[in-house]
Amino acid sequence: MTASADSSAISGANTAQQSVTLLGSTGSIGNSTLDVLARHPDRYRVYALSAHTRINELFEQCKTYRPEVAVVGSEQSANQLHALCVQAGLKISVEFGPDALDAVASATDTDIVVAAIVGSAGLMSTLAAANTGKRVLLANKEALVMSGDLLLQAAKNSGALIMPVDSEHNAIFQSLPSTKNGVKTDGIEKILLTASGGPLRKCTLEELRVVSVQQALKHPNWSMGPKISIDSATLMNKGLEVIEACQLFAVGPDDIQVVVHPESIIHSMVSYADGSVIAQMGRPDMRTPIAHALSWPQRITSGVAPLNFMEISGLHFEEPDTQRFPLLRLAFEAQRSGGTAPAILNAANEVAVDAFLSGDVAFLQLSDVVEQTLNASKISPASDLSTIIGADKDARHKAREVVGAFAGR
Ligand code: NAD
Ligand code: MG
Repeated sequence: MTASADSSAISGANTAQQSVTLLGSTGSIGNSTLDVLARHPDRYRVYALSAHTRINELFEQCKTYRPEVAVVGSEQSANQLHALCVQAGLKISVEFGPDALDAVASATDTDIVVAAIVGSAGLMSTLAAANTGKRVLLANKEALVMSGDLLLQAAKNSGALIMPVDSEHNAIFQSLPSTKNGVKTDGIEKILLTASGGPLRKCTLEELRVVSVQQALKHPNWSMGPKISIDSATLMNKGLEVIEACQLFAVGPDDIQVVVHPESIIHSMVSYADGSVIAQMGRPDMRTPIAHALSWPQRITSGVAPLNFMEISGLHFEEPDTQRFPLLRLAFEAQRSGGTAPAILNAANEVAVDAFLSGDVAFLQLSDVVEQTLNASKISPASDLSTIIGADKDARHKAREVVGAFAGR
Protein backbone atom coordinates (compact mmCIF):
# COMPACT_ATOMS: atom_id res chain seq x y z
CA MET A 1 0.00 0.00 0.00
CA THR A 2 1.02 3.59 -0.33
CA ALA A 3 0.28 6.67 1.68
CA SER A 4 1.72 10.11 2.01
CA ALA A 5 1.49 13.34 3.91
CA ASP A 6 1.27 15.54 0.86
CA SER A 7 3.26 18.69 1.39
CA SER A 8 2.99 19.99 -2.14
CA ALA A 9 1.29 23.28 -1.42
CA ILE A 10 3.06 24.32 1.75
CA SER A 11 4.22 27.88 1.80
CA GLY A 12 7.33 27.01 3.83
CA ALA A 13 8.64 28.99 6.76
CA ASN A 14 6.61 32.13 6.09
CA THR A 15 6.14 33.84 9.42
CA ALA A 16 4.32 36.94 8.10
CA GLN A 17 0.99 37.50 9.85
CA GLN A 18 -1.70 35.33 8.33
CA SER A 19 -5.39 36.03 8.20
CA VAL A 20 -7.86 33.40 9.42
CA THR A 21 -11.50 32.67 8.63
CA LEU A 22 -13.00 30.54 11.39
CA LEU A 23 -16.22 28.83 10.32
CA GLY A 24 -18.15 27.53 13.34
CA SER A 25 -16.36 29.77 15.84
CA THR A 26 -18.86 29.23 18.67
CA GLY A 27 -18.40 25.44 18.67
CA SER A 28 -15.98 23.30 20.60
CA ILE A 29 -13.34 23.34 17.82
CA GLY A 30 -14.05 27.03 17.21
CA ASN A 31 -13.33 27.95 20.83
CA SER A 32 -10.19 25.81 20.96
CA THR A 33 -8.97 27.47 17.76
CA LEU A 34 -9.53 30.97 19.17
CA ASP A 35 -7.59 29.97 22.27
CA VAL A 36 -4.58 28.99 20.12
CA LEU A 37 -4.86 32.07 17.87
CA ALA A 38 -4.94 34.37 20.90
CA ARG A 39 -1.53 33.02 21.96
CA HIS A 40 0.02 34.16 18.65
CA PRO A 41 -1.23 37.63 17.72
CA ASP A 42 2.05 38.22 15.87
CA ARG A 43 1.35 35.28 13.52
CA TYR A 44 -2.44 35.29 13.10
CA ARG A 45 -5.29 37.77 12.88
CA VAL A 46 -8.96 36.90 12.57
CA TYR A 47 -10.59 37.93 9.31
CA ALA A 48 -14.02 36.30 9.75
CA LEU A 49 -16.00 34.41 12.39
CA SER A 50 -19.23 32.47 11.92
CA ALA A 51 -21.96 31.06 14.12
CA HIS A 52 -25.36 29.64 13.37
CA THR A 53 -27.61 30.72 16.25
CA ARG A 54 -25.51 31.56 19.32
CA ILE A 55 -25.41 35.29 18.61
CA ASN A 56 -24.48 36.54 22.08
CA GLU A 57 -21.50 34.20 22.14
CA LEU A 58 -20.45 35.38 18.70
CA PHE A 59 -20.79 38.99 19.83
CA GLU A 60 -18.42 38.32 22.76
CA GLN A 61 -15.94 36.78 20.30
CA CYS A 62 -16.29 39.83 18.02
CA LYS A 63 -15.43 42.14 20.92
CA THR A 64 -12.28 40.14 21.70
CA TYR A 65 -11.03 39.19 18.22
CA ARG A 66 -12.30 42.12 16.10
CA PRO A 67 -12.95 40.26 12.83
CA GLU A 68 -13.72 42.23 9.67
CA VAL A 69 -16.73 40.03 8.91
CA ALA A 70 -19.15 38.00 11.05
CA VAL A 71 -21.54 35.50 9.43
CA VAL A 72 -24.70 34.14 11.07
CA GLY A 73 -27.51 31.80 10.03
CA SER A 74 -30.44 34.14 9.39
CA GLU A 75 -31.34 37.74 8.59
CA GLN A 76 -32.94 38.10 12.00
CA SER A 77 -29.72 36.97 13.73
CA ALA A 78 -27.74 39.32 11.50
CA ASN A 79 -29.92 42.29 12.55
CA GLN A 80 -29.49 41.31 16.19
CA LEU A 81 -25.69 41.04 15.92
CA HIS A 82 -25.45 44.20 13.85
CA ALA A 83 -27.35 46.18 16.52
CA LEU A 84 -25.06 44.82 19.25
CA CYS A 85 -21.95 45.73 17.23
CA VAL A 86 -23.20 49.27 16.52
CA GLN A 87 -23.99 49.76 20.21
CA ALA A 88 -20.46 48.62 21.14
CA GLY A 89 -18.85 50.79 18.45
CA LEU A 90 -17.52 47.76 16.54
CA LYS A 91 -17.04 48.20 12.80
CA ILE A 92 -17.82 44.68 11.63
CA SER A 93 -19.62 43.71 8.47
CA VAL A 94 -22.41 41.31 9.51
CA GLU A 95 -23.64 38.87 6.84
CA PHE A 96 -25.90 35.83 6.87
CA GLY A 97 -26.57 32.57 5.06
CA PRO A 98 -24.63 29.98 3.05
CA ASP A 99 -23.47 32.40 0.32
CA ALA A 100 -21.88 34.62 2.95
CA LEU A 101 -20.07 31.57 4.39
CA ASP A 102 -18.74 30.72 0.93
CA ALA A 103 -17.64 34.34 0.46
CA VAL A 104 -15.57 34.50 3.67
CA ALA A 105 -14.13 31.04 2.97
CA SER A 106 -12.90 32.12 -0.46
CA ALA A 107 -12.09 35.80 0.23
CA THR A 108 -8.75 37.00 -1.09
CA ASP A 109 -8.25 38.61 2.33
CA THR A 110 -7.92 35.25 4.04
CA ASP A 111 -5.04 32.75 4.02
CA ILE A 112 -6.33 30.09 6.39
CA VAL A 113 -9.85 28.67 6.67
CA VAL A 114 -10.79 26.59 9.69
CA ALA A 115 -13.70 24.35 8.64
CA ALA A 116 -15.35 23.70 12.01
CA ILE A 117 -19.05 23.78 11.15
CA VAL A 118 -20.71 20.52 12.15
CA GLY A 119 -22.31 18.21 9.59
CA SER A 120 -23.17 18.56 5.93
CA ALA A 121 -23.91 22.28 6.53
CA GLY A 122 -20.14 22.76 6.33
CA LEU A 123 -19.70 21.19 2.91
CA MET A 124 -20.06 24.15 0.55
CA SER A 125 -17.88 26.57 2.51
CA THR A 126 -15.17 23.90 2.87
CA LEU A 127 -15.31 23.36 -0.89
CA ALA A 128 -15.14 27.11 -1.44
CA ALA A 129 -11.92 27.28 0.60
CA ALA A 130 -10.49 24.25 -1.21
CA ASN A 131 -11.34 25.81 -4.58
CA THR A 132 -9.47 29.01 -3.79
CA GLY A 133 -6.09 27.72 -2.68
CA LYS A 134 -6.37 28.29 1.07
CA ARG A 135 -4.73 26.38 3.87
CA VAL A 136 -7.83 24.48 5.03
CA LEU A 137 -7.83 23.22 8.62
CA LEU A 138 -10.34 20.43 8.23
CA ALA A 139 -12.35 19.58 11.34
CA ASN A 140 -15.61 19.04 9.45
CA LYS A 141 -15.18 15.35 8.67
CA GLU A 142 -18.70 15.07 7.22
CA ALA A 143 -17.64 17.18 4.20
CA LEU A 144 -14.84 14.76 3.42
CA VAL A 145 -17.06 11.71 3.95
CA MET A 146 -19.69 13.11 1.59
CA SER A 147 -17.45 14.32 -1.17
CA GLY A 148 -13.84 13.44 -0.45
CA ASP A 149 -12.81 12.96 -4.08
CA LEU A 150 -14.24 16.32 -5.17
CA LEU A 151 -12.79 18.16 -2.20
CA LEU A 152 -9.30 16.74 -2.67
CA GLN A 153 -9.41 17.29 -6.41
CA ALA A 154 -10.46 20.90 -5.83
CA ALA A 155 -7.50 21.36 -3.47
CA LYS A 156 -5.15 19.80 -5.98
CA ASN A 157 -6.38 22.08 -8.77
CA SER A 158 -6.13 25.26 -6.72
CA GLY A 159 -3.03 24.44 -4.68
CA ALA A 160 -4.99 24.45 -1.40
CA LEU A 161 -3.44 22.57 1.50
CA ILE A 162 -5.82 20.36 3.48
CA MET A 163 -4.51 19.95 7.03
CA PRO A 164 -6.30 17.38 9.19
CA VAL A 165 -7.49 18.72 12.54
CA ASP A 166 -9.28 15.56 13.64
CA SER A 167 -6.85 14.32 16.30
CA GLU A 168 -6.45 10.85 14.78
CA HIS A 169 -5.79 12.11 11.27
CA ASN A 170 -3.49 14.76 12.53
CA ALA A 171 -1.63 12.00 14.41
CA ILE A 172 -1.46 9.83 11.28
CA PHE A 173 -0.19 12.80 9.29
CA GLN A 174 2.53 13.28 11.90
CA SER A 175 3.38 9.55 11.91
CA LEU A 176 3.67 9.19 8.14
CA PRO A 177 7.02 9.78 6.48
CA SER A 178 7.62 13.42 5.67
CA THR A 179 7.55 13.54 1.91
CA LYS A 180 8.35 16.21 -0.56
CA ASN A 181 6.00 17.27 -3.30
CA GLY A 182 3.46 14.59 -2.55
CA VAL A 183 5.72 11.64 -3.39
CA LYS A 184 4.01 8.44 -2.27
CA THR A 185 6.00 6.44 0.21
CA ASP A 186 5.95 2.65 0.42
CA GLY A 187 6.65 0.40 3.38
CA ILE A 188 3.51 1.21 5.32
CA GLU A 189 1.74 -1.88 6.65
CA LYS A 190 -1.28 -0.45 8.41
CA ILE A 191 -2.81 2.70 9.74
CA LEU A 192 -3.83 2.04 13.34
CA LEU A 193 -6.74 4.35 14.06
CA THR A 194 -7.29 4.64 17.78
CA ALA A 195 -10.71 5.05 19.40
CA SER A 196 -11.50 5.82 23.03
CA GLY A 197 -14.51 3.51 22.79
CA GLY A 198 -16.76 6.32 24.03
CA PRO A 199 -18.82 6.55 27.21
CA LEU A 200 -20.72 3.30 26.59
CA ARG A 201 -17.73 1.06 25.88
CA LYS A 202 -18.51 -1.28 28.76
CA CYS A 203 -22.30 -1.40 28.39
CA THR A 204 -24.01 -4.69 27.56
CA LEU A 205 -26.58 -4.82 24.76
CA GLU A 206 -29.31 -4.84 27.42
CA GLU A 207 -27.89 -1.67 28.96
CA LEU A 208 -27.49 -0.01 25.53
CA ARG A 209 -31.21 -0.57 24.90
CA VAL A 210 -32.12 1.94 27.61
CA VAL A 211 -29.24 4.43 27.35
CA SER A 212 -30.33 8.05 27.91
CA VAL A 213 -29.21 11.08 25.88
CA GLN A 214 -27.28 12.36 28.91
CA GLN A 215 -25.35 9.08 29.27
CA ALA A 216 -24.51 9.03 25.57
CA LEU A 217 -23.32 12.65 25.61
CA LYS A 218 -20.88 12.10 28.48
CA HIS A 219 -17.56 11.44 26.77
CA PRO A 220 -14.88 10.22 29.20
CA ASN A 221 -11.88 12.06 27.66
CA TRP A 222 -12.96 14.76 25.21
CA SER A 223 -15.27 17.75 25.54
CA MET A 224 -17.06 18.12 22.18
CA GLY A 225 -20.26 19.29 20.48
CA PRO A 226 -23.42 17.14 20.82
CA LYS A 227 -23.35 15.54 17.34
CA ILE A 228 -19.80 14.20 17.52
CA SER A 229 -20.38 13.16 21.15
CA ILE A 230 -23.28 10.89 20.11
CA ASP A 231 -21.19 9.64 17.16
CA SER A 232 -18.46 8.74 19.65
CA ALA A 233 -20.92 6.79 21.78
CA THR A 234 -22.14 4.75 18.77
CA LEU A 235 -18.62 4.40 17.24
CA MET A 236 -20.00 6.10 14.12
CA ASN A 237 -17.40 8.78 14.75
CA LYS A 238 -14.74 6.11 14.22
CA GLY A 239 -16.59 4.89 11.15
CA LEU A 240 -16.61 8.40 9.67
CA GLU A 241 -12.92 8.63 10.57
CA VAL A 242 -12.13 5.39 8.70
CA ILE A 243 -13.64 6.98 5.57
CA GLU A 244 -11.85 10.26 6.33
CA ALA A 245 -8.51 8.43 6.60
CA CYS A 246 -9.12 6.54 3.33
CA GLN A 247 -9.67 9.87 1.61
CA LEU A 248 -6.91 11.90 3.23
CA PHE A 249 -4.18 9.30 2.93
CA ALA A 250 -5.29 7.53 -0.28
CA VAL A 251 -5.64 4.09 1.34
CA GLY A 252 -8.38 1.45 1.36
CA PRO A 253 -10.51 0.36 4.33
CA ASP A 254 -8.48 -2.87 4.62
CA ASP A 255 -5.36 -0.79 5.25
CA ILE A 256 -6.93 0.58 8.44
CA GLN A 257 -7.30 -1.18 11.76
CA VAL A 258 -9.40 0.40 14.50
CA VAL A 259 -7.82 -0.06 17.93
CA VAL A 260 -9.79 0.83 21.05
CA HIS A 261 -7.49 2.69 23.43
CA PRO A 262 -9.57 4.06 26.31
CA GLU A 263 -6.97 6.51 27.69
CA SER A 264 -6.82 8.60 24.46
CA ILE A 265 -3.09 9.23 24.95
CA ILE A 266 -2.01 7.70 21.64
CA HIS A 267 -4.01 9.55 18.99
CA SER A 268 -3.21 7.05 16.20
CA MET A 269 -0.26 5.14 14.78
CA VAL A 270 1.34 3.96 11.57
CA SER A 271 2.85 0.48 11.37
CA TYR A 272 5.73 -0.14 8.92
CA ALA A 273 7.09 -3.16 7.04
CA ASP A 274 10.24 -3.33 9.19
CA GLY A 275 8.21 -3.75 12.38
CA SER A 276 8.37 -0.11 13.47
CA VAL A 277 5.25 1.54 14.77
CA ILE A 278 5.21 5.34 14.93
CA ALA A 279 2.64 6.88 17.25
CA GLN A 280 1.69 10.44 18.07
CA MET A 281 0.89 11.01 21.75
CA GLY A 282 -0.37 13.88 23.81
CA ARG A 283 -3.06 14.96 26.19
CA PRO A 284 -6.60 14.71 24.78
CA ASP A 285 -6.88 18.40 23.95
CA MET A 286 -7.79 19.59 20.44
CA ARG A 287 -5.52 22.62 20.76
CA THR A 288 -2.57 20.34 19.93
CA PRO A 289 -3.77 19.22 16.46
CA ILE A 290 -5.16 22.73 15.79
CA ALA A 291 -1.81 24.36 16.56
CA HIS A 292 -0.01 21.75 14.45
CA ALA A 293 -2.34 22.25 11.48
CA LEU A 294 -2.05 26.04 11.75
CA SER A 295 1.72 26.21 11.82
CA TRP A 296 3.05 23.06 10.08
CA PRO A 297 5.87 22.54 9.21
CA GLN A 298 6.77 24.77 12.13
CA ARG A 299 5.65 24.17 15.72
CA ILE A 300 3.97 26.73 17.94
CA THR A 301 2.74 26.62 21.53
CA SER A 302 -0.88 25.56 22.01
CA GLY A 303 -1.44 25.99 25.73
CA VAL A 304 -1.40 22.21 26.19
CA ALA A 305 0.97 20.91 28.87
CA PRO A 306 3.36 18.14 27.84
CA LEU A 307 2.51 14.59 28.79
CA ASN A 308 3.81 13.53 32.17
CA PHE A 309 4.56 9.83 31.75
CA MET A 310 4.91 9.38 35.51
CA GLU A 311 1.19 10.20 35.80
CA ILE A 312 0.10 7.57 33.28
CA SER A 313 -0.79 4.34 35.04
CA GLY A 314 -1.17 2.30 31.86
CA LEU A 315 -2.12 2.22 28.20
CA HIS A 316 -4.75 -0.32 27.22
CA PHE A 317 -5.89 -1.67 23.86
CA GLU A 318 -8.81 -3.80 22.72
CA GLU A 319 -10.77 -4.76 19.61
CA PRO A 320 -13.89 -2.74 18.77
CA ASP A 321 -17.15 -4.68 19.17
CA THR A 322 -19.27 -4.26 16.06
CA GLN A 323 -22.06 -6.41 17.53
CA ARG A 324 -22.86 -3.74 20.09
CA PHE A 325 -21.72 -0.87 17.86
CA PRO A 326 -22.80 -1.84 14.31
CA LEU A 327 -22.36 1.65 12.86
CA LEU A 328 -18.61 1.05 12.67
CA ARG A 329 -19.23 -2.00 10.47
CA LEU A 330 -21.71 -0.06 8.31
CA ALA A 331 -19.13 2.68 7.73
CA PHE A 332 -16.50 0.15 6.61
CA GLU A 333 -19.10 -1.36 4.26
CA ALA A 334 -20.11 2.04 2.86
CA GLN A 335 -16.48 2.85 2.10
CA ARG A 336 -16.08 -0.52 0.35
CA SER A 337 -19.24 0.17 -1.69
CA GLY A 338 -17.88 3.61 -2.63
CA GLY A 339 -19.76 6.13 -4.79
CA THR A 340 -22.54 7.88 -2.91
CA ALA A 341 -22.69 5.21 -0.16
CA PRO A 342 -20.61 7.28 2.35
CA ALA A 343 -22.79 10.36 1.67
CA ILE A 344 -25.94 8.27 2.26
CA LEU A 345 -24.45 6.82 5.45
CA ASN A 346 -23.57 10.31 6.66
CA ALA A 347 -26.96 11.86 5.85
CA ALA A 348 -28.90 9.02 7.50
CA ASN A 349 -26.66 9.29 10.55
CA GLU A 350 -27.23 13.07 10.85
CA VAL A 351 -31.00 12.48 10.79
CA ALA A 352 -30.69 9.59 13.27
CA VAL A 353 -28.56 11.62 15.72
CA ASP A 354 -31.04 14.54 15.63
CA ALA A 355 -33.86 12.07 16.28
CA PHE A 356 -32.00 10.49 19.19
CA LEU A 357 -31.22 13.90 20.71
CA SER A 358 -34.89 14.87 20.49
CA GLY A 359 -36.08 11.56 21.95
CA ASP A 360 -37.66 10.11 18.78
CA VAL A 361 -35.47 7.00 18.55
CA ALA A 362 -33.65 4.86 21.09
CA PHE A 363 -29.88 4.43 21.13
CA LEU A 364 -29.89 1.01 19.43
CA GLN A 365 -32.21 2.31 16.72
CA LEU A 366 -29.57 4.76 15.49
CA SER A 367 -27.86 2.00 13.51
CA ASP A 368 -31.24 0.66 12.30
CA VAL A 369 -32.05 4.06 10.78
CA VAL A 370 -28.72 4.13 8.95
CA GLU A 371 -28.82 0.48 7.82
CA GLN A 372 -32.41 0.67 6.56
CA THR A 373 -31.67 3.91 4.71
CA LEU A 374 -28.61 2.38 3.04
CA ASN A 375 -30.61 -0.74 2.09
CA ALA A 376 -33.36 1.39 0.53
CA SER A 377 -30.95 3.65 -1.42
CA LYS A 378 -29.43 3.31 -4.85
CA ILE A 379 -25.69 3.88 -4.86
CA SER A 380 -24.31 5.88 -7.78
CA PRO A 381 -20.80 7.05 -8.69
CA ALA A 382 -20.04 10.23 -6.70
CA SER A 383 -18.80 11.99 -9.81
CA ASP A 384 -20.26 15.46 -9.32
CA LEU A 385 -21.62 17.68 -6.60
CA SER A 386 -25.25 17.58 -7.69
CA THR A 387 -25.26 13.75 -7.53
CA ILE A 388 -23.84 13.89 -4.00
CA ILE A 389 -26.27 16.56 -2.84
CA GLY A 390 -29.13 14.61 -4.43
CA ALA A 391 -28.05 11.42 -2.63
CA ASP A 392 -27.81 13.35 0.65
CA LYS A 393 -31.32 14.77 0.20
CA ASP A 394 -32.90 11.42 -0.75
CA ALA A 395 -31.18 9.67 2.15
CA ARG A 396 -32.46 12.29 4.61
CA HIS A 397 -35.98 11.78 3.29
CA LYS A 398 -35.73 7.98 3.65
CA ALA A 399 -34.10 8.23 7.08
CA ARG A 400 -36.91 10.51 8.30
CA GLU A 401 -39.43 7.89 7.18
CA VAL A 402 -37.62 5.22 9.18
CA VAL A 403 -37.47 7.54 12.19
CA GLY A 404 -41.19 8.28 11.77
CA ALA A 405 -41.95 4.55 11.82
CA PHE A 406 -39.90 4.08 15.01
CA ALA A 407 -41.51 7.11 16.65
CA GLY A 408 -44.98 5.75 15.76
CA ARG A 409 -45.84 8.65 13.46
P1 NAD B 1 -20.20 22.15 17.84
O1 NAD B 1 -21.60 21.64 17.80
O2 NAD B 1 -19.58 22.43 19.18
O3 NAD B 1 -20.06 23.48 16.95
C1 NAD B 1 -20.60 23.54 15.67
C2 NAD B 1 -20.40 24.92 15.05
O4 NAD B 1 -21.06 24.88 13.77
C3 NAD B 1 -21.03 26.07 15.84
O5 NAD B 1 -20.23 27.22 15.74
C4 NAD B 1 -22.36 26.31 15.11
O6 NAD B 1 -22.79 27.66 15.19
C5 NAD B 1 -22.01 25.95 13.67
N1 NAD B 1 -23.17 25.45 12.93
C6 NAD B 1 -24.03 24.47 13.31
N2 NAD B 1 -24.98 24.26 12.36
C7 NAD B 1 -24.71 25.14 11.36
C8 NAD B 1 -25.34 25.45 10.12
N3 NAD B 1 -26.45 24.79 9.70
N4 NAD B 1 -24.81 26.43 9.34
C9 NAD B 1 -23.70 27.10 9.75
N5 NAD B 1 -23.06 26.86 10.93
C10 NAD B 1 -23.57 25.89 11.73
O7 NAD B 1 -19.31 21.09 17.03
P2 NAD B 1 -17.77 20.69 17.25
O8 NAD B 1 -17.66 19.63 18.28
O9 NAD B 1 -16.93 21.91 17.39
O10 NAD B 1 -17.46 19.97 15.86
C11 NAD B 1 -17.30 20.70 14.66
C12 NAD B 1 -16.79 19.76 13.58
O11 NAD B 1 -15.49 19.32 13.97
C13 NAD B 1 -17.63 18.50 13.40
O12 NAD B 1 -17.66 18.13 12.05
C14 NAD B 1 -16.88 17.45 14.21
O13 NAD B 1 -17.05 16.15 13.70
C15 NAD B 1 -15.45 17.91 14.02
N6 NAD B 1 -14.54 17.50 15.10
C16 NAD B 1 -14.77 17.95 16.37
C17 NAD B 1 -13.91 17.56 17.40
C18 NAD B 1 -14.10 18.07 18.80
O14 NAD B 1 -13.27 17.77 19.66
N7 NAD B 1 -15.13 18.82 19.09
C19 NAD B 1 -12.84 16.70 17.12
C20 NAD B 1 -12.65 16.28 15.81
C21 NAD B 1 -13.49 16.68 14.80
MG1 MG C 1 -11.35 12.22 16.06
